[in-house]
Formats: sequence, C-alpha cells, structure tokens
Amino acid sequence: EMFGQLTTGLESAWNKLRGTDVLTKENIAEPMRDIRRALLEADVSLPVVRSFIESVTEKAAGTDVIRGVKPEQQLVKVVNDELVQLMGGEVSDLVFAKTGPTVILLAGLQGVGKTTVCAKLAYYLKKMGKSCMLIAADVYRPAAIDQLTILGKQVGVPVYSEGTEVKPSQIAKNGLKEAKSKKTDVIIVDTAGRLQVDKAMMSELKEVKRAVNPTEVLLVVDAMTGQEAASLVSTFNVEIGITGAILTKLDGDSRGGAALSIKEVSGKPIKFVGRGERMEDLEPFYPDRMAQRILGMGDVLSFVEKAQEVMRQEDAEELQKKILSAKFNFNDFLKQTQAIAQMGSFSRIIGMIPGMNKVTPAQIREAEKNLKFMESMINVMTPEERERPELLAESRERRIRVAKESGKNERQVSQLVAQLFRMRAQMQKMMGAMQGQDTPDMEG
Ligand code: GDP
Repeated sequence: EMFGQLTTGLESAWNKLRGTDVLTKENIAEPMRDIRRALLEADVSLPVVRSFIESVTEKAAGTDVIRGVKPEQQLVKVVNDELVQLMGGEVSDLVFAKTGPTVILLAGLQGVGKTTVCAKLAYYLKKMGKSCMLIAADVYRPAAIDQLTILGKQVGVPVYSEGTEVKPSQIAKNGLKEAKSKKTDVIIVDTAGRLQVDKAMMSELKEVKRAVNPTEVLLVVDAMTGQEAASLVSTFNVEIGITGAILTKLDGDSRGGAALSIKEVSGKPIKFVGRGERMEDLEPFYPDRMAQRILGMGDVLSFVEKAQEVMRQEDAEELQKKILSAKFNFNDFLKQTQAIAQMGSFSRIIGMIPGMNKVTPAQIREAEKNLKFMESMINVMTPEERERPELLAESRERRIRVAKESGKNERQVSQLVAQLFRMRAQMQKMMGAMQGQDTPDMEG
C-alpha cells in the first residue's frame, strides 16, 4: 500500500504521546522527529519537510487540548490540517474557456503516462458532458500517434493527426480550427515527450503554446519519481509557464513524496491523479482525502472534530472531573444527554470510541429510549435533588413526590436513582477507556 511506510512512521509518533495530557514543544519534539524521518523516507523534499515540521510544532504546541480528546489525537488533527494545506488546501478544478474550445496542453517526459492521460482526461470530460477531441502533436514517434488513435477509439473521442511531417505547432493550430468548426468543447493536445528535459523540447512546447493559447497547460509526472517529480513541475513552470500537474501511478508503490512536495516546491497544484491503467482511473486531486489516506486515521479525525464542535472546553473539563471523582449528578446527566442529542446518534459516538464497539445496536436503542424516560423524571426534581442524588436515595417522601409530578410510579423513580449511581460507575469505566487508563475505583 502506497504511503504504508509513512503511515507506520506517523503511528510511532502518536504512540510516543500516549499518557501525556498536554502538547508542549518539549513533549512533541520526539514525535516530530519521527514525523520528519517518515516524511524524508517518503521522499518529500528537505525544505518542504523543514517548513512542515516547523509549522506543525508551532500550531500543536500552541493549542489547548480539548478535554476528552487525547493529545496524540489532537496532534493527528494538526498534522492532518497542515498536510491538507501543504497539498494546496482546496481541490483545484480544471478551468474552461468562456468562449470557443477549451485548450488543454499536456506535456511530460517519456513513459510517465502522458498518452494514457490524454485519453483518460477525454473520458472524464465526456462523462461531464463535454465533447472532446484529441490532437496528436507528438511527431517523433509514429507509435505515439497510433497509440493515441487506439485509445481515442476506446473512449469514443475523435483523434486529429497529420502524420509526422508537419510541425507540432501547425498540427495543434489546424486541430484547433477543426474543433472550432465542429463546436467541440475541449481539445487535448498531446505533445512529444523526451527522456529528459532539453532545450529542443522546451522551445517546441513554447511554440505549441503560442500557437493555440491554451487554457490549461498540465505537466504529467510519475509519482514513482518522488521529489524529482516536484522539481520537474517547477522547471517546466519556470520555462514555459504551466497551470498545474497530473500525478500518475499513485496506485504503485511510490512513497508519496511527489504528492506532498509538488505544490510547495513549484507553487502549482496537482489537478488530477492517476490510479491505474484503466480509462476510469483518473480522478481530481483532493488534498483532504489524500491527507486522510496518508494518516489512515479518519475515525480519530472525525471524533476530534465532533468533540470540538460540541464540547466547550470548560464544560467538558468540569464534567470529566465530576465523572472521575464520582460526583456525577442529575444536572450532568441532563447536560450529557443534551450533548449526545446534539452530537447525533449515540451509536455513532460509541463507535468512534476505541474499545466501545462491542455494544450492540439493540443495547444502544434501549439506552436512547431510557434517556427520554428518565429525563421526564429529572425535569420535576428540585435543584438540590439534581445536585445531590443522595437526597432521593435517602428519602421515600421525595421519591413519591417526583413520581407523582412526573406521572411515573415510585418504583420507577427508585430505579432511576439506582441507575444514576450505576451510571457513575459506567461513565468512569468509559472515561478510563477513552483515556487509556485504568478504571478508578468507585467511591460511593
Ligand atoms: P507516455 O510515454 O508518457 O505517453 O506513457 P504512456 O501513456 O504510454 O504510459 C506508459 C505506461 O504507464 C503504460 O503501460 C500505461 O498503462 C502505464 N500507466 C499510465 N498511467 C498509469 C497509472 O496511473 N497507473 C499505472 N499503474 N500505470 C499507468
């Protein structure tokens, strides 16, 4: 699995934070070294690694850890957000011309998958409802024209070619004219690839670019080449001016360095990624999804986000203290049920807590029904009774009054009081599981 090593490297970083309760420059120093090593091993370029580590350190050490969220989970979140930024933040959509055909010029070295990308992109655009035409402007290899013609047939898109005797810029120009007359929405120009960057290639590309004034100039690069891909994007951008990159072969065992370095090194976004040899294996590049794949921690992220949304820091802190010291009372009970209602279904929250997935859906439904039933009794309690459930445990008179006012019977009120004490114990257990610590003994 691509990114496998990076993911493992990051896991060891999180593990080093287990058992701490705040993030400081000091205690994240060692995990940050692990992250740094993991990124370098993934072939991310050194300056990119440096600035990444710097900004994660600064952000992580400066954040208050939300109660109920473990520091290593919080660090996962910070690293995730920075990875997303590193890769450009938002998805970078293709730009279409306002009038006339949109011209997409594709460049790239030999073997990176450029010809395949031409056809994949046409297939993608066709599915979007755009009419396409491919233009064969790679005149050095007759085989390249044949290959494009075959792929064009395969995806049902016309291929414009004039053999190998006409200049590429002229072919591109003639192709564009043809597309205009046919009212084609998009033309994709396949240009010659070389084994390496050279002057002839660059000047030919410039000439083709001048001839057709493209809306998009995309450089196709191979993910297997790691940070080298990033410097290629940068070189092409300086030499001919490009609008973005297409990163191929992400399905192979490349180490991820290219995906992480391209934007930062070249200033140009990755617009598409190739994930296989089939025509449908080309998709827009989503930095957030890519970051989640790298971290392999989607569950932790959504847990932290939910907790951030719902739990204000002080509330959560207070609640946690009470739970741990077994002072959990009916007011907390109400607050808790409201928070749970706000968070969405109980079951989803339970599912996000490691070690809690053994609870069955039937048990959860039962618990949710019970919460409503109990709420109606709590609503008629006096403030002191809510604060100190012991009062109800000690006085039959109080229980009878609560029963009467809530339309329940005395036995049901007794059960509720007993349940609150049981809940104290359960919540302590749950908190223990969330914090990875042993369950404190129940105090009474
Ligand atoms: P070009 O020389 O740049 O035009 O490269 P081609 O389009 O001929 O592709 C070279 C080889 O890479 C072909 O065998 C393609 O099937 C393969 N290829 C292209 N893109 C991908 C990809 O995203 N994943 C994988 N696994 N193979 C790819």
